[in-house]
Amino acid sequence: MSKGKERYVYLGIGGNLGDRVSTLSNSLTAIQERIGTIERHSSLYETPPWGYTQQPEFLNAAVVLKTNLPALEILGIAKELERAAGRATNHPRWHERPLDIDILIVEGEVINSEELTVPHIYMAARAFVLVPLAEIAPEIVHQTIGLRIETLRDLCPPSDRSNVKKYLTPDW
Ligand code: AMP
Repeated sequence: MSKGKERYVYLGIGGNLGDRVSTLSNSLTAIQERIGTIERHSSLYETPPWGYTQQPEFLNAAVVLKTNLPALEILGIAKELERAAGRATNHPRWHERPLDIDILIVEGEVINSEELTVPHIYMAARAFVLVPLAEIAPEIVHQTIGLRIETLRDLCPPSDRSNVKKYLTPDW
């Protein structure tokens, strides 16, 4: 695929199976090798499961990187990394997984295709996405809603926000 212009891409990463910290930390190395140069990543946050609640707590983080890869190519690599981390391909939506990588925002691009919706379709309602993302990029604007990430975070119900707890670990 031809390479485009370099721009910022914001990813959400998370997982709730296995050694969550090393899976997420290894995913940063793989993202850096396969997708682009990581500029910053957020703290880890522990959050209760969303959707299907009978499963372990998730660790989540946000990452900003610079890349010229097309968004669809990033999605393909993200799916490969999820599979390599041991995620079943036929898992039901919102069930447990060692690694989940979501494309949250791509600078200058709005995408609505069968495989990909960017900005991510659910991000504006999810405190576990917005709290880590607001830590590294409070001022970027959600292109279709037209509000800053910190504003969207502050609009989440306080009970949702307080469920997203900083998870301190020296390895991260
Ligand atoms: P999930 O099981 O929630 O990880 O959903 C994965 C599916 O969502 C993938 O097969 C993608 O094709 C689709 N998808 C749509 N938009 C996005 C996005 N912005 N980031 C990641 N996956 C996406």
